[in-house]
Order: sequence, then C-alpha cells, then structure tokens
Amino acid sequence: MKAITLDTRHFYGGEHHDSFGNKTFQSINPATQEVIATIPEANEQDISAAIDAAKIAFKEWNQIDVITRGHLINLIADAIEEHSEELVNIDVQDAGRPILDATEDIEAVVRMYRYFGGLPDKIEGVTIPFGNEKLVFTKREPYGVIAAITAWNYPLFNNTAKIAPIIATGNACILKPAEETPLVALRLAEIIANVPGIPRGLVSVLNGSGETTGNALVANSNINKITFTGSTQTAKLILNNISNNNVKNCTFELGGKAPVVVFDDANIDGAAKAIAFCAFFNQGQTCTAATRIIVEKGVHDILLEKLKEIASRIVIGDPTNEKTTLGPLVSKAQYDKVNGYLKRAIERSEKMVLGNERTLPTIGYYVCPTIFDNISPSSELFTDEVFGPVLTVTTFEDEKDAIRLANNSEYGLAASVWTKDIDRMHRLASSIKCGIMQCNTIFCEFPGAPAGGYKNSGYGREFGKEAITEYTQIKTVWVSYSDNYLDWV
Ligand code: NAD
Repeated sequence: MKAITLDTRHFYGGEHHDSFGNKTFQSINPATQEVIATIPEANEQDISAAIDAAKIAFKEWNQIDVITRGHLINLIADAIEEHSEELVNIDVQDAGRPILDATEDIEAVVRMYRYFGGLPDKIEGVTIPFGNEKLVFTKREPYGVIAAITAWNYPLFNNTAKIAPIIATGNACILKPAEETPLVALRLAEIIANVPGIPRGLVSVLNGSGETTGNALVANSNINKITFTGSTQTAKLILNNISNNNVKNCTFELGGKAPVVVFDDANIDGAAKAIAFCAFFNQGQTCTAATRIIVEKGVHDILLEKLKEIASRIVIGDPTNEKTTLGPLVSKAQYDKVNGYLKRAIERSEKMVLGNERTLPTIGYYVCPTIFDNISPSSELFTDEVFGPVLTVTTFEDEKDAIRLANNSEYGLAASVWTKDIDRMHRLASSIKCGIMQCNTIFCEFPGAPAGGYKNSGYGREFGKEAITEYTQIKTVWVSYSDNYLDWV
C-alpha cells in the first residue's frame, strides 16, 4: 500500500487551513498499530471560520438551478470513480478494512451520489385547497449549514450518506468524522471542492474529538441542523447539549442489535450463508449486523453447524491482502471493548462454540469470529451492541415466543425473518418493531430505500426521497388574489 500523504489540516472554503488552536490527535493503522497521521483538532474559532465559508457557499449553491445542481452531484460521482484507488488506500490503512470491502464501498458510494444527483428537481411542495380568494402552497427550503457527525465503521460510506443528501437538497455541509477515521473525509472534501462548478466551501471537514469539536458544533447557533450517525449514548449527550443551548432539528442514525428469526421451514443453507456474512463482514462493526439469532428448536443444530463451518473459513489477516475477509477492529478501544464482552461471557460460563481457536496476527487489533450458543435474553451478549465479530444463538418455542425475543431490546434498527410460510412472514414483518425489516434476506442497502431506526436506534431516515423531508423545511405561502380586505374597525 502507498503511504498516505494528505494535508490533514482543517478543510473549509475549498482549501486547507491551519488550526486556531494547537491540540492534535493521531490516526493509527489498526493492522500495524503504527501512527499514520497527526491531525489538528478543531475548536470554536475553527468552527466559526468554517461556518462563514459554508454560508457563502450555501448562497452560491442556491443560485444554481436544480438541473445543474443534479449534474454537478453526478460529476462528484465521476470524480470518486476516478480517485477510487486512492480512497480505498486511505480506508484500508485508516480503518483497517479489508481491501475487498473498501473497494466494494466505492461502488455503493458512487451509486449514492448518482441517486442523489437525481433528486434536486424532485423537491416539490403541495397546493392546499382553501377557497376562492387565496392560494396556499408549500415549498421545501434547505436548512442552510448542516453539521454531520459520523461514525468510523464505514468511513467513506457514512460520510457520503450525509454529504450527498445534504447538498442535493440545497444545504452546505460541515462534516466531523469520527476521530478513529479522520482521513478519508479530508480527501473526499478535496475531491468535491475540485469539481468545476461546485462552490468551494460547500463541503467542509473539521476533525476532532466528540468532546471538543462535536460538542462545539452542536452548541453553535449558526449550525441550522445536526445529522448524526453514532451510538445511542452519544445521541443522548447531543440532545442534552441542544436543549441547553438552542432548538434545532436532528436526524439520529444510532445503534442496533438486529434479531434474525429462523423458522424450521426456512432455507437453512441460504439463511446460514446470509447470517454469517451479515454478522462477520466488516469485523462485525455494522449497525445492522446479524447478532441475535433466534432459531426454532428443530433447525437449531443444523443452523449452528453451518454457521460454524462458514465462520471457520473466514480468512483473517492483513487488510491489504485481497484474500482477507476479516481484518482488525478499528482501534485499541474497540478491541478492548469487544474482548471485555468475551472475557465476561467466559467468566459467566456462557457457551462459546466458536472463537479463540484461530491463530491471530500478533500485531493489530484482531478478534476471531465468535459464536455463542444458548444465550439467555438477560445476558449482556443478547442486550448490548458488541460491535465486533460476535454472534449469539437463542432458541424459541413458537411464533409468539420468537416475536417476544426479537422485540426484547432497547434497539429497533434492522431485523430479519426466515420462513417459507408467507402468512407468518407478514405477521413477523408487522410485529417486529424496527425500521428495516428483511424477509428471507439480510444486509439490504440501496440509496432509494429509506433506512433508520425505531426505539433507541434513532429517528429520521437516511436515503430515498425521505432525505427531502430530512434535509428541507416546509414553508407555507399564502397569496391573496382578492381585494376583499377585512374592515376591522
Ligand atoms: P460514537 O457515538 O462514539 O461516535 C460517533 C461520532 O460522534 C464521532 O464522530 C464522535 O467523535 C462524535 N461524538 C462523540 N461524543 C460527542 C458529543 N458529546 N457531541 C458531539 N459528537 C460527539 O459512535 P462510534 O463508536 O463512532 O460508532 C459506532 C456506533 O455508530 C454504533 O452504535 C453503531 O451502531 C452506530 N452506527 C449507526 C449507523 C446507522 O445508520 N444507524 C451506521 C453506522 C454506525
């Protein structure tokens, strides 16, 4: 892999800027544990300067007609395709993602810009029947400068899931990436600013910790909206911060603990392949990862055997190797967190049926694909989002029990049900409380399909035309065409 030679200073107004403060932090390659970059942390002054630049870009962007806006977003997609190798190189080193996975992300990211490139001329209002003297209609207007705060698990994808809809709906974006993966966003912002016709300050990147940069962005009254992807715990801090400082709209894409319900009549072979992929892909660091398998007694043994067999074939190792299917976790902190869950589970004598037996690289934050069987709904492995390559299996008695177990969670992001019985499939699809329901399939993502959570998994939706609702506000316009004015006094 090539060494990363990025300008890591703050990016706003279409160029890099020195920091007003002198705090920095380091980005570490989780496969080699080497420091690959030192990055300045943005403070309130940096944020103010970025907002000033974003406001100018916002005005320019809204003078551009919607057809051209869509065309320019498509040019971003072209530019990303052109720079794909470079972006993959950063993602692999900054996040430790296997090169195959990071390469697949490019396709998803390009698809997303193309989808949202088609959106600007579809942002419509409605006319409201009122009577003969007034016309009432609504229009959707952008918020202005939106701050996007993102998680590290799919750096390029998560950042794009914010940038593309934000700018498609006419806003300017200030992005604060996760401190674990600060680099790809900087290159992405440079690429976007270099697309001829895009206002140079339209997409800014300010790196820094949640405590400093994230907090200050949320509190800033010139930020018109927050869109956040991260943990439920941080969302609560953001809500507290907002309520102490101002009132602003938020979109929250939060954690999950996806139940996967497998009935006796399911295609067990297909279910096992799909579940193993969804549980262990990206080292299990996926908000919709299949982590709670809830299986009917009759197929428990066969499903478990198949899952073990597939998981034992996962190729663990160097993320730069094209054969690798499981790289390191993103950071030492994440490694310690996941190992903490495994250690406590072993201390509680929970039944680990796969894990620990593989030889792992001696350097890097690697964890074996791990399966626990017979996990009780009261276990923290059943309730908590572990966010590592760990899946649990629990059996159910009947349909009612399956629904009860599936809904036994503070989260409600994704769920999956596997059965050939179409009536039962629909009953489960209606009864499981989640924002993304997958029937005889799993790990579904498409820019046209809205995604988001119920319960503590958040509110608001990413993707699809829902993005229009999310990133614009409604203005109701009343127009009188009568001279019939009220003679009040
Ligand atoms: P996190 O909540 O720790 O951090 C997310 C972001 O919030 C980071 O950029 C961080 O710097 C920032 N942040 C932290 N404290 C802050 C504060 N007080 N104010 C403002 N910003 C602050 O989450 P993480 O560990 O980076 O990511 C993992 C989580 O993200 C998991 O729960 C996962 O399920 C979730 N996630 C959800 C989706 C989704 O679409 N629902 C997608 C990806 C990840």
